[in-house]
This record gives sequence, structure tokens and C-alpha cells, in this order.
Amino acid sequence: MPNDTVPPESPPRAVCPTCRAADWYRVSRLDHGVTHIDEHHIDPFYRCNIWHVRGRDRDLMVDSGMGVVSLCEQVPWLREREVLAVASHAHFDHVGNHHEFDHRACHPAEAHILAEPRGDWNLADRFAVVEMFNALPPGGYRQADYRVQPAPSTQLVEAGDVIDLGDRVFEVLHVPGHSPGSIALWEAASGVLLSGDAVYDGPLVDDAYHSDIPTYLETMARLSALPVTVVHGGHFASFGRARFQEVIREYLDGRRRPGCPSEAG
Ligand SMILES: [Zn+2]
Ligand SMILES: [Zn+2]
Repeated sequence: MPNDTVPPESPPRAVCPTCRAADWYRVSRLDHGVTHIDEHHIDPFYRCNIWHVRGRDRDLMVDSGMGVVSLCEQVPWLREREVLAVASHAHFDHVGNHHEFDHRACHPAEAHILAEPRGDWNLADRFAVVEMFNALPPGGYRQADYRVQPAPSTQLVEAGDVIDLGDRVFEVLHVPGHSPGSIALWEAASGVLLSGDAVYDGPLVDDAYHSDIPTYLETMARLSALPVTVVHGGHFASFGRARFQEVIREYLDGRRRPGCPSEAG
């Protein structure tokens, strides 16, 4: 095919290959009984981390990916034991497979989005673009056809609530700012923080329609006191306490400029 009409500096985007369903999810076992699952054919900025924690009496899963490939079909051991599927918040990239789980928890401030996952509410209209894929899911992908399935919560969780797995206990922290119903799960005994999109080691998003910067600043100031040992965020790689403090400091410094109208109290 002649390519002399195409400027050399802007070659056409290569056609995305299609990925087999069996290759969609990548699973790695980490310390503290935590397993990391992700959709590695999605660009890192959009690629949600799925966190699974093994407990004695039941398991915990935080977030479930965007739902273009069945999580339970491809990672069937997830449903071999009772598992509570928690939504760190209701954005499409975090809750797309929640409908496959019987026990689902989220914060009341975003329960309506899980029950009625409108694309303008869960950011799919803005972000669920084909350009996010390095390889397409089986059958291809069209943003216009993409839908998150309704997955109404079976349990609402708020700040101070405890999620008990039998031999380990996670406290629910309400960490609004990125979104009003953002929660993080904190295991004081191990120092593990499952932080969702409130804190991760990459560009933080505080300009979604329901983001609130003054609230985000308060959340960050509060989180900075947590004696974390490892932070497993909603996106990008996990990190330790020093980087946690740094990410928070960078956010606070960036948003608390003198004269900035979003200056918190
Ligand atoms: Zn989000
Ligand atoms: Zn996200």
C-alpha cells in the first residue's frame, strides 16, 4: 500500500492485535497473602489494579477491572471461596466485573453509580476510548458499545467499618476527593493500604465531574499520618512509606499554591 500521502512524522496507528481471553489477565502473587491481577493490554494510565487478599474465613477483592473479558471465567479460583468484592469507587475501570460476584460492597456516596452505571457517571463516556488498548479484547472494542453491567452493592461500607476475613481485619477509610465515594482499606497489623485512586504512584485525577480538590487536600493530609509499609493503589506499581509521603507531599504542594482558590483552610 503506498504510503507517500502519509506524513512521516504521523504514521497511521498500527491496527491493534486482538488478545485471547486466556491472556487478558496477568496474575502475580505478592507478600502478605496479596495477589495482584491486571489487564496488561491496557495502557498503564487506564489499567486498574485488582487486589485479592486471602483470608481464613473469606477473601477480599478490591476492584475488578473494566469488564471487557470475564474475570471469573479467566481467573476461576476467585470464586472458589467466599469473596467480598469491594469497589474502591465506581469508575468504569474499577467495577466492570463486579456483577460476577455475589457479595459487593461500596460507599453509599457511589452506590447509585454501581446500581445504574451510566457512562457519564462512571467516566466511561470520557475515558473508555479504544486508544487505551495495546491489544483489543476478543471480539474487538467499540466505545459506543461498551457498558458496565449493573452491580448494586449488597453491603454499604463507611469510614470506621471493619471487613473481617477471620484472621485479618481491614478498616474502611473514607478518602473522598478523586470521587465522593472513594474508600481505602487499611490493615493496621501489616501496614498494608489498599488505596484505590486516592493515592497511587502516577498522575492523580482531581478534575472528574465529581472530584473535589479541597476535599482531596483534606484526605491527603489525613492519610499522610498512616504508618504504611506498602501501598497497593488503583493504578501503577506498589510502593512503600517514603514514596507514599512523597506522593502526598507533591499533591499538597501542587494544589496549595499561594493564592490558589483551592487552598484548604
Ligand atoms: Zn477513578
Ligand atoms: Zn482508576
